[in-house]
Amino acid sequence: MAEYSTLGSVAVLQVNNPPVNSFSHHVRQALVDGLERAQRDPAVRSIVIMGKGRTFPAGADIREFGSGAAVKMPNLLMVLQAVDTCQKPVVSAIHGTALGGGFELALASHYRLAVPSARMGLPEVHLGILPGAGGTQRLPRVVGVKTAIQMITSGQHIKAQQALSLGIVDKIVQGDLLKEAVSFARSVEGRPVEDRRISQKTVPEADKVDEVVEAARKTILRKARGAIAPMTCVQAIQASVLPFEAGMAREAELMAFLMTSWQAPAQQYAFFSEREVRRWSHPRDKRINFKTAKPRVVKSVGVVGAGTMGMGITINLLQAGLKVVMLEVNKKQLDKAVNTIKKTLSQKSASQKMSQLTTAMDYSQLRDVDIVIEAVFENMRLKKEVFRKLDAVTKPQTILASNTSGLNIDEIAAVTKRPDKVVGTHFFAPANVMRLLENIYGRQTSPETVATAMQLGVTIGKVGVLVGNCPGFVGNRMLGSYTAEAVFLLEEGAEPQDVDRAIEEFGFPMGPFRMGDLSGTDIGWKGRIAKGLTTEHGPPPATPALYRRGNRYCPLPDMLCMKGRLGQKTGAGWYRYEPGSRTALPDPVVLQMIQDYRQEHGFKKRTISSQEIVERCLYPLINEGFHILDEGIAARSLDIDVIYLFGYGWPRHTGGPMYYAERVIGLEKLLCSLETYSARYPDHAHLQPSPLLRNMVAKGGSLAALGTDSKL
Ligand code: NAD
Repeated sequence: MAEYSTLGSVAVLQVNNPPVNSFSHHVRQALVDGLERAQRDPAVRSIVIMGKGRTFPAGADIREFGSGAAVKMPNLLMVLQAVDTCQKPVVSAIHGTALGGGFELALASHYRLAVPSARMGLPEVHLGILPGAGGTQRLPRVVGVKTAIQMITSGQHIKAQQALSLGIVDKIVQGDLLKEAVSFARSVEGRPVEDRRISQKTVPEADKVDEVVEAARKTILRKARGAIAPMTCVQAIQASVLPFEAGMAREAELMAFLMTSWQAPAQQYAFFSEREVRRWSHPRDKRINFKTAKPRVVKSVGVVGAGTMGMGITINLLQAGLKVVMLEVNKKQLDKAVNTIKKTLSQKSASQKMSQLTTAMDYSQLRDVDIVIEAVFENMRLKKEVFRKLDAVTKPQTILASNTSGLNIDEIAAVTKRPDKVVGTHFFAPANVMRLLENIYGRQTSPETVATAMQLGVTIGKVGVLVGNCPGFVGNRMLGSYTAEAVFLLEEGAEPQDVDRAIEEFGFPMGPFRMGDLSGTDIGWKGRIAKGLTTEHGPPPATPALYRRGNRYCPLPDMLCMKGRLGQKTGAGWYRYEPGSRTALPDPVVLQMIQDYRQEHGFKKRTISSQEIVERCLYPLINEGFHILDEGIAARSLDIDVIYLFGYGWPRHTGGPMYYAERVIGLEKLLCSLETYSARYPDHAHLQPSPLLRNMVAKGGSLAALGTDSKL
């Protein structure tokens, strides 16, 4: 609702709809009623709109999405029209975040005030839509088309000070917002509102708009990577040069286009899933869940190994205000890590945050921490040795976590006397940037330990997903079939850049080969050597070149590493790199290596379409997701989707692999394609459709219905 009160000649409308004062139907109705009442009352000469509690209205009520309530009159457009055309000055007084519809409300008002900490923005693009209550028409009239495009297509928030310098906010007020707003409103009473109505202004430099749009188009298309909302926002903004009513009609038309596209529901699903993963339940025992399991309090964390991951994890923990003891065996590496951490932490609070960091080379210094995150080399023998030491030196209640990318958590836990307190916490590189935290429970991990790992994720700003223990867990296990099929495509005629281009056009920031070069081609190589699939000098003796343990195997990635081409760090991998550059350039040496290999093994080069590349890479990845659900490794398909959205750059506008499979490809078509490909390549095991997929197609089940007792 919106509470109506008067302070002398000022009517105050305070939106009160916790938690974020969103525009639910009853709020919209109360605002229209309040404005009418203020208009009618001759004693009222100005109106203040603000939010009660922690924020100005922060947008539409997403709970109403897809329900009748969202379209129930008055809609937001009508509320804003009432504000815009009000004959008495309307002042929006902003604190917290004015987002989406909230920001549009502020723009429809005649004056805007903000407290210094306020933030504002139009994040609709992240939900696959546009600011459809005049945001694309009013904002450019204030800040110009170029800035409006930047703000609306990025969905970024701006701070009050920036809003002031852009002319969005009229004044920044210190002290009590209500008091200041009322006094400001009094000061503008009696002034004509006509020249304050943004809708009646014209866009600055209207004659240059087409030029500005043209210049923005390329960048936006590149950044959007297949998402249709950003460019549609631009089209709406471009219409702001028209008279306001005509521009609004264009905005409505484009909004309807986006609302009926397949991408808007996919992005809204992604948005809801990000929140829903917090309502976790144990994949094997639903009685253990976010409600029943209580986390331990974590104030201090030990990090073992200050390499790439240990360093990133430490930065993340310090940024969240936790105490960290960082242990490393190599003094030079330890010093390097401290320097990098210092440089990365923001200037302002670096010294305060650094004071929370203790470095150590002696395990006994980990004695008192609440949890230890181990990030030493990916080697089972070493991990066991480290966990034995940790078990011996830490207090009995300390939780011991491993950042392994895929080693067996139970095997690690077995060397300790506290397997109930051992858990996997799989961060992604760079650990202080990537949002995903894949938490892995072992056979004996206690509910309390699981809850602590999940809560730690929340504390440090991660999106935590709980999964079961299997080689590669969820993310890397699914990735395995994707990268395997990508190299099989090279055998048949594709070149690395063909595969990367097709995958990037689908929406990934990087295709598998560019990604391999970035992370280092030797990561996978070392893993295969550890598993005995290859050696540093070629295939193990008496092994067929193209098979390992009965499965099809492509040795091209091993051959690449044997040439010392370990990716960007060596200036060459699947591509070559000019000194100091990260631009991947196709390399005749690699293309020749692939061509010679094809000849040697009797592969006939053929032209492979982008569609086949996408299907051959992504369908087996999705198929593995079905195996994972079938085995109870993930509780819900949305857990898998969130892992891919936040850890692997899966394009958000497609909702995630499992959503995409069900809602966009269609399960029947997916099954049919996998059957066709597996008939063509009977020895590519990952192309064999999963029994769960077959079953669901036969019986008509839905992924959303699997394991959704999540509505706990
Ligand atoms: P890294 O080689 O950069 O760092 C490992 C560090 O551990 C080194 O500095 C080494 O000196 C130190 N170390 C070795 N033995 C030690 C011991 N006994 N005690 C203390 N320190 C010791 O490796 P990384 O890339 O940071 O990977 C660490 C772990 O994180 C691995 O298990 C890896 O699989 C996993 N991981 C890596 C990535 C990635 O992209 N790099 C992503 C996710 C998970």
